[in-house]
Amino acid sequence: MTDVDASSAEPRLEWDTPLFRMARAQFEQALPHAEVSDLVAERLSYPERAVIVSVPLRRDDGSIEIFPGYRVQHSTVLGPTKGGIRYDPEVSLGECAALATWMTWKCALLRLPYGGAKGGIRCDAHALSQRELEKLTRRFTSELIREIGPQTDIPAPDMATNEQTMAWMMDTYSMQKGHAVPEIVTGKPISIGGSVFRREATGAGVVMVTDQACRRLGRELAGQRCVVQGFGNVGGVAASELHDRGAIVVGVSDISGGVHDERGLDVPALHAYVAEHGSLAGYERCERVTNEQLLELPCDILVLAAREDQVTGENAPRVHATLVIEGANGPTTLEADEILAERGIAVVPDILTNAGGVTVSYFEWVQDLGRLFWDRDEIRRKLSDKMSDAFDRVYAVADAKGITLRQAAMVAAIREVAGALEARGIYP
Ligand code: NAD
Repeated sequence: MTDVDASSAEPRLEWDTPLFRMARAQFEQALPHAEVSDLVAERLSYPERAVIVSVPLRRDDGSIEIFPGYRVQHSTVLGPTKGGIRYDPEVSLGECAALATWMTWKCALLRLPYGGAKGGIRCDAHALSQRELEKLTRRFTSELIREIGPQTDIPAPDMATNEQTMAWMMDTYSMQKGHAVPEIVTGKPISIGGSVFRREATGAGVVMVTDQACRRLGRELAGQRCVVQGFGNVGGVAASELHDRGAIVVGVSDISGGVHDERGLDVPALHAYVAEHGSLAGYERCERVTNEQLLELPCDILVLAAREDQVTGENAPRVHATLVIEGANGPTTLEADEILAERGIAVVPDILTNAGGVTVSYFEWVQDLGRLFWDRDEIRRKLSDKMSDAFDRVYAVADAKGITLRQAAMVAAIREVAGALEARGIYP
C-alpha cells in the first residue's frame, strides 16, 4: 500500500493528494481542542477502505473506452457509510478520500448513524450521451456490488449525477439481488422510494444556516446582498431560497461564467434560461463577470456552491463579503481560512452548511426501510430542527473555546465519532 515520496522519504499512501492533506490538516488543527485519545486521532486519520475499478463503456460510435472509478469509505464506526457519486474529469482517489473524510464529520455533526464515503467516475459527463451515461452507471454499480449495500454503504448524487443516475443504480442493484431495494441509494425519484424535499434539501439547508448566522451577527437575512457561486443543485436552490426570503441576489455563476446586477438578479428568469439553454452561457440581460471576478464582487454574503478550492490564499484578501457560506465541499483552502479569519470574515463551514442533503438522505433511507413516507412539511420541519441543533452546538463550542466555526464544527463532530470508537475499541 505504500510508496516513498522521494522528497521527504516519508511513507505515503496513494490517496495522499493536496486535497486529502487539506482534509487531514483540518482534522489535525481541531484535534488539540477535541481532547480525544491517540487511538481516535490515529485511526480517524485514514479512510478504512478504498476501491479502484476500471469501467468499460461501448460508446455510441462503437468504440470502447475505459474509465477509472473509485469508492472510498472513511469510517464505519457510527454505522454504514454514506456519500455521493461524482462524475467529473478531476475525480481521483485523493479527492474521494478527502470528501469521504468530510462526510464522516458531517454525518457525525448532524448526529446521523452513518460514516462517510465518496465515489465517482473520472469522466466528462457532458461529453457523454444519456445512453452512454446509463451504461456507464450500470457497469460502475455492478463493479461496486460487493462494496455497497443498504447496511454497508449507501450512495447519493453529487456533481453531475442526479435522480436519474440514482434510479439506474437502484435498478442495477435490485436486478442483481432479485427484488426491489430502494434503500440502496438516496436522492432517487419519488416514484421508486425517493423522498419529497430531497432535491431541494441541500440548498434549503444552506439558507437555513445562513439565516441563523445572520441572526447571530445581528442582521436580517432579508435585504442582505448575496453572491452565489455555482448554479446547480446546491447553488441554484440556495439562490431561489435567498431570493424568496427577501435577500438580494446580486451575482450568480456556473462553469460558463457569472452574471451580476447590483439591483438584484431575476433568479426565476435565470432558472428558466438555464432550463432552456443548459447553462448561463449567453445570458445577456445583465453584466457578465468571470468566476474570478464573481468571488470579489461587493456583497454581504458569499455562498460558495460550486466545488473545492475556490477561495485561496491568492484571492482571499480581495473577498468583499463579511460572511462566507460553504455550500460546496472544501471551497476554502487552509491559507484562505487564515486570511479570512484575520480579516474578521466568518466562514460557516461545509460540514455544517451543506449537511441538509445528507440529513434528508437519512430521512429517505429511514422511510425506505420502514416503507412509510412523510410529507413535505414534516421533512422540512425535521430538517430545520436538525440543522439548528447542529448550528447551536457549533456556535457553543466556538464561543467556549474561542476557535473558528470550522474548528468548532470539527471538534463537535470528532467528539461524536470518538465516543463511539472508544466504546467499540479496535478489533480484534
Ligand atoms: P451540480 O453539478 O448540480 O452543480 C455544480 C454547479 O457548479 C454547476 O452550476 C456548475 O456549472 C458549477 N461549477 C462547476 N465548476 C465551477 C467553477 N470552477 N466555477 C464556477 N462554477 C462552477 O453539483 P451540486 O450537487 O450542486 O454540488 C455542488 C457542490 O456542493 C459540490 O462541492 C458538492 O460536493 C456539494 N454538495 C452537494 C450536495 C447535494 O446534495 N447535491 C450535498 C452536499 C454537498
